[in-house]
Amino acid sequence: MADTKYIFVSGGVVSSLGKGIVSASLGKLLQARGYHVTIQKFDPYINIDPGTLNPYEHGECYVTVDGHEADLDLGHYERFLNIPTTRANNVTTGRIYQTVIDKERKGDYLGKTVQVIPQITDEIKRNVKLLSKHKFDFVITEIGGTVGDIESLPFIESVRQLKWELGKNCICVHLTYVPYIAAAKEYKTKPTQHSVKQLQELGIQPDVLVLRTERRLKQDLIQKVARFCNVEENAVIQSIDVPTIYEVPLVLQEQNMDAIVLKKMGLEVNSTPDMTKWKGFLQRKAQATETVRIGLVGKYVELQDAYKSIDESLLQAAIYNDRKLDLCLIHSEKITEANVAELLAGLDGILVAPGFGQRGIEGKLTAIRYARENDKPCFGVCLGMQCMVIEFARNVLGMAGANSTEMEQTTPYKVIDLMENQKNIINMGGSMRLGAFDCVLQKDSKAYMAYGKEQIQERHRHRFEFNNEYREEFEAAGMKCVGENPDSGLVEVVEIPTLQWFIGTQYHPEYNSTVVNPHPLFVSFVKAAIENK
Ligand code: GLN
Repeated sequence: MADTKYIFVSGGVVSSLGKGIVSASLGKLLQARGYHVTIQKFDPYINIDPGTLNPYEHGECYVTVDGHEADLDLGHYERFLNIPTTRANNVTTGRIYQTVIDKERKGDYLGKTVQVIPQITDEIKRNVKLLSKHKFDFVITEIGGTVGDIESLPFIESVRQLKWELGKNCICVHLTYVPYIAAAKEYKTKPTQHSVKQLQELGIQPDVLVLRTERRLKQDLIQKVARFCNVEENAVIQSIDVPTIYEVPLVLQEQNMDAIVLKKMGLEVNSTPDMTKWKGFLQRKAQATETVRIGLVGKYVELQDAYKSIDESLLQAAIYNDRKLDLCLIHSEKITEANVAELLAGLDGILVAPGFGQRGIEGKLTAIRYARENDKPCFGVCLGMQCMVIEFARNVLGMAGANSTEMEQTTPYKVIDLMENQKNIINMGGSMRLGAFDCVLQKDSKAYMAYGKEQIQERHRHRFEFNNEYREEFEAAGMKCVGENPDSGLVEVVEIPTLQWFIGTQYHPEYNSTVVNPHPLFVSFVKAAIENK
């Protein structure tokens, strides 16, 4: 295919309609037709990246292989497309302005006044086109926020300019909501009409509309939307609520969304791909009757998106073990020595979540102690792994008050300590140990058995590390450091081999689990949990 094609996905009426899932699903359908596809997210907020946002503001922070702290939608893109994203796949207003202001300071604008149009919009457009250098057939760009927001105006304006410049090589998909008014027993299209009108006022005529709805809409309603919004009737697609996000590609495929997009962009439409692997996954999900109960211990469990990638990795691992996932959310602040047995006894396995700061730490330590002493499969991720180390130090090695210096600078036993190259850092944004690093696994370890190989690469996001000064003591008492970074000697994986499944990873394996490629550690953890039943 000669020219890269650009698809923009905007949203209207309300936020949280699932633009990310629609973008990922369309990407999946195009990929299934043999195209090379990537998906990009533009976030209209002023933070340079979401790395400095807490989960209450923003849900999970996803990390790309090249060490970018990214929006969680990139996780959906990777889980659907099974290809890595990079820094170029997530751009915020903050980053756009930072680049423009840096250029202005260097004098690159040669005395010109720097304005939103054209300098900011040019920088946005440059970031869209940057991805085409990687020879993608399709670049799908999701515009965060809702049309009409002040913040997203420069992005929408850039889309308007690109549509004009690129002609058939650029289309706009607009996602809206069709609410059901129970009292009137009717679905209402007015919000959609208004949202499209707003887009039109900004100079953009959407080519495809996706209507998010709870139940199937009647054809006359679709006709009405088409007529009011200047969109062809067959290009008004419904995105009906489904039990799992992984069904969305099939829902869109049934309505020929991918074929409609191809036609609009002047491309040939060959036979519909069968999506065998994808459907196989859904079939396995549907056929599973027995359940595996996994407890997720964290301080943000009440937030739907705080541990998104872990939730999805567990779900995928359960399905590949032919089990339904019963995910029990356990607030780490609520775990005490008095109630731990009651809270955790009925679980088949426990995952202790990543995190920052003191809040909820004691509950995590109590949960880990319970898992260790009762030989319950236990998976510690990042801070979860660090807590495994602290708990072992305190209760097995007798190091009273052992801690991470993140929690307590004056602890007598700094079993987790700040990494050397983190000591002089002043700027908190983008300065952790980020992205994919090599790790070598010991051949006789459980982690090695799960991966089936010695050399792995996993993504990181942390400042603190296992303190190697204590390594011998830990190993002698039964906690082994079985994964290590070959360049720095940093401990990446610990495990207690005498227990059924007790593994902690300094890295975040959850960023690497996809629908067609579930993560081996998660699969092995869930398998152990099932055997523990
Ligand atoms: N707070 C810990 C650190 O910075 C763990 C981080 C995490 O769990 N992502 O090292």
